[in-house]
Amino acid sequence: MTGRHLRYTAGWVVPMAAAPVRDGAVLLDPSGRILEVGPAASVPEPAGTLGRSFPSAAILPGLVNTHTHLELTGLDGEVQDDSFPEWILHLVAVKRQRTPEALRAAARQGVEDNWRMGVTTVADTGDSGAVIEALADLGASGIAYHEVFGPDPRLADDCLRAWAARLDELARFAGGRVRLGASPHAPFTVSGPLYRRAAQHARAAGLPLAMHIAESVAEGQLLAIGQGGFATRWRERGLDPVAEGVSPVAWLERHGVLGPDALCIHCVHATEDDLLRLAAHGAAIAHCPRSNRRHGHGDAPLQAIRARGLRVGVGTDSVASVAPLDLLAEARLARRLGGLSAWESLDLVTRGAAEAVGLEREVGSLAPGRWGDLAIFAVGAQLDELRLPDALTALGPGELLCTVLAGREVWLAPPPRHNPPGDHLLGPMP
Ligand SMILES: [Zn+2]
Repeated sequence: MTGRHLRYTAGWVVPMAAAPVRDGAVLLDPSGRILEVGPAASVPEPAGTLGRSFPSAAILPGLVNTHTHLELTGLDGEVQDDSFPEWILHLVAVKRQRTPEALRAAARQGVEDNWRMGVTTVADTGDSGAVIEALADLGASGIAYHEVFGPDPRLADDCLRAWAARLDELARFAGGRVRLGASPHAPFTVSGPLYRRAAQHARAAGLPLAMHIAESVAEGQLLAIGQGGFATRWRERGLDPVAEGVSPVAWLERHGVLGPDALCIHCVHATEDDLLRLAAHGAAIAHCPRSNRRHGHGDAPLQAIRARGLRVGVGTDSVASVAPLDLLAEARLARRLGGLSAWESLDLVTRGAAEAVGLEREVGSLAPGRWGDLAIFAVGAQLDELRLPDALTALGPGELLCTVLAGREVWLAPPPRHNPPGDHLLGPMP
């Protein structure tokens, strides 16, 4: 917060909730909320306003990344298994070697890496608590869904108790733009009874839910027929595979997990019936196209997901799956997979992504009352309206000039890139 109004002008302002504006401006109030968006000629400039001008850039809403694991930052390419059950096993082993300090450092780095690609809000899952602490320390914006594990149904109460106590501890980091959420991890790590209790506990505490679901073939086999890579792991641990003849999504429904507060991550192996179930409960989806391909899961049925009217956003997943994080590259792949228009693919990382995580009144579009979160990208001074959407979808971190979080410039391209010809600072920024 600057204590003063801030006014950003650019060759294009792209509110997402309204048509793009040529020679537009965004005015932020001293608390970092948006006061006005529109043609620069009509957006006021109250006395004492600090201004920045980017004539050859486009101002987008700060991007929203619907799925990250920021405590894994730095583990790029560390685990190489092709088999997903093996990969998970090895990833957990590598993560366990990290000290609490290392996890905290990784989480901070992960938040800053997101800022470096124009992402201002993250929806993160993890079990260390490092990410919510990093979000709070850095004054960042996001939801940290704290994971619970426990495949043995006999231990559901014990697992729940320990997790609930940890949620209480982590609640001290929540507040302002930092939210705590709950994540019963995945059907191959959480028993049905624990899913049910965890969902009940989260709802009683007012915490949103997120879980990995219908991601791999092995997960589906575990629940349907008690076979496959995860079923083998379970037997090795003396556990009986589920084998209930249901799909992962139906299994979530059976245990009372689905609802408008539930973010279903991946949903690669979701049938038409599953999508109807998700739609009936108003659940949302985090779509991670590059991660799904990296692990050989296949492609999520994005077209059908959208056709059912499900809320959906795109996420990067972790750098252990795909590195470096690049949310706009995910949006490009989603565009191809879903046969989307450029605007529809941009929606998956802005307005639609915010809707998917329940934050659409706060972020994801540029409109009065929303947070002043901006991603400002170089697009060239000559870009016309016809070429604008394709030019925006082609962007990457290399074109990012500045990331603004509630009026705070949390990332600025090093000179001379942040001042391309014609772009200039109109007033000293704090
Ligand atoms: Zn994940």
